[in-house]
Parts: sequence; structure tokens; C-alpha cells
Amino acid sequence: MGKRTEASIEIGSERFIHKIPQIRNRLIQTTWLKKLSKSEALLTKEFEADIRNLEEGNRNLRALIEPGMQEKAFPEMAVNLESKNDALYRYISSLSTIVSGEIAKAPEIDPSATLSFFKERLGTKIDFMAIRREMLEAIRLANAKLLEGADQFCKKYGVSDQGQLAILIPQVLYACKKCYSIKRANEISVQCKACKSDQWESLPLSMLAEPMQHFIQSNVWLEYGVSRLLRKTPIFKDCCEGHIWLGKSGIEHEIDVFLITKSGKVGLVECTRSFVGLNEMMVFKGKRDDLRADFVLIFSMSGIEPDAVKFGRKYQMYSFERILEVDGLKEEVNRTLEVIG
Ligand SMILES: [Zn+2]
Repeated sequence: MGKRTEASIEIGSERFIHKIPQIRNRLIQTTWLKKLSKSEALLTKEFEADIRNLEEGNRNLRALIEPGMQEKAFPEMAVNLESKNDALYRYISSLSTIVSGEIAKAPEIDPSATLSFFKERLGTKIDFMAIRREMLEAIRLANAKLLEGADQFCKKYGVSDQGQLAILIPQVLYACKKCYSIKRANEISVQCKACKSDQWESLPLSMLAEPMQHFIQSNVWLEYGVSRLLRKTPIFKDCCEGHIWLGKSGIEHEIDVFLITKSGKVGLVECTRSFVGLNEMMVFKGKRDDLRADFVLIFSMSGIEPDAVKFGRKYQMYSFERILEVDGLKEEVNRTLEVIG
């Protein structure tokens, strides 16, 4: 995580130490987050679907350009290639180093076991130049889709992809104009190693910037949506998102949202996309005890086990399942917080 910003907060007579992880610090400085955190849309199904799209677009592109990524699932691209040629697709996904030029160098000379297997299956000589050309097209397509998705996202939520901490960051790859081998800028030499051509075409790409990836994958959007909702409740005094807090044991805990009520009570807020079972609930209780918090609020998008709900209630731990039905959720949260006081 690297460098962290440390601070403390007074609650009653106690002083709580908290830190902001570096990636969070960078995220907080983005203008688009400031704009988005004021948005009503954060807890809606539509917003979730939109960021899921961006996440998938980014994963698809990475799967095509990053060595070692092809073996991981990239559903949409897999379907496209598979429908064209099952064996070809599986051959491509069995190679983990497309970008580093292994396709360009190896297959024509070195008939590995995999290669001969597919040659037998295909019954013809594999046209590697065609494969490389197809990969290049797939990369262009995946990049265009991601760009379009990000553009629509920015327009829809009134944010702009400008400034130092952008949503997308540029990357450039190079493709040999003759044999379609793909190289990174630091690997490029005057001549193509595969075909000796010196004609390169630049392939400008965009990928999700690290703060944006963190925003999506670590459920930061959910935390901001929940904290926005809490800020509008009558008992709200203060809260902060995504900090690390020091427990009385000396152990640091990552807390999604830390809430302080007007009456001085301290609440931990957990936001999750996963199902919450009894075990998770007991972990939350452990955190709460170590941080001497008065209550816990749990927001789950995938449901909560009835026993976990029952267990939680005993210890002032309140769970909310209907996270994406914003109006109903608001009422429920208000009712619960009234009880907490
Ligand atoms: Zn070449």
C-alpha cells in the first residue's frame, strides 16, 4: 500500500487513530469522485451495471494485451473468438505470451506438443499471420468498446475524464505493419525480430487508471453511496470512508465507513457485494469490539443469512439487504438509526 496519511479524531474523551491508504488518498483527489459522491445514482442497479461494464471492458482489453492474462476468463471475447473457431480460440488462450511476441517467433519453427495437437485437429497449416491480424483487430475492438463505455459513463454521470487523475490512462503498443507482431514501447527495436521489417504502426490504447479500478473493485462507489445516504439522516454528525483504524489490540482494521452520531455514538459501516453469513457477522463483531464502536451497520448486495441477522441484533449490528432499492432502504435506515439514537 505504500505511504499513508495518518490522523486522529476525538470522540468523547477517546482519541482514535486512522490512516488513509495511499491509493485512497489519490482517489479522494480526483474531481470525478467529488462529483460522483454527490450523485443520487450511486446505489442504483443502473450504476452498478454501468461500472460492471467498465470493469469487464478493462478486463477484456487486459486479457488481450498483458502477458499471462489470456488464460483468465474474458467472457465476451471468448464467445466472439470461439464462435469463429473453437480450436483456434483454445490455441490462442493456451498461449500466455501473445504480446511479448512468442506467437511471432516460436510456432513456425518449434512444433511444440500443443502446436502439433492443434495442427492435427485443424488438419491444415495454421496461418499465424492471420491469428496475429485477428488479435490486433480484437485489441482495437476491445479498446474502442472501453473508450466508448468510459465516454458514456462520463456523460451520463456528468463527470469529466480530465486532469492528472483521469479515469482512463493512455498506453501505446506497436504493431509490425508486415507480420502484425505486437510489441511494447520498451521492446521495440528498429527491425521486427519475426520478419525483419522496420515498419511499425503505433497502437494507442486506453485502460482504466488505478484509482478508477480501485473505485470499482473495492466497492468504493458503494461506500460513497451508503455514506451519502447516512449523511442525510437526522442523527448524522460526521463520517469518513475507506480508512484504516487502530484497534485497542494494536491491530489495524480497514473500515468501509466510520460514522459518528450527534449523541456521540460511534458506528462501523460495512458495505459488501458478497453474501453475509454468520461467520462474517462474527468478524464484524470482533472489529467492533476492538474499535470500541457502539453499533455496526451492514449493507449487503447479495443477502444476509437469517442466523447472521439474529446474531447481529443481539449486539447492535443492523443489516440491510435491499441495497439497490434506494427509497425503501432510506426509510429502513432512518427507522434503524432512530432506535440507535
Ligand atoms: Zn514483423
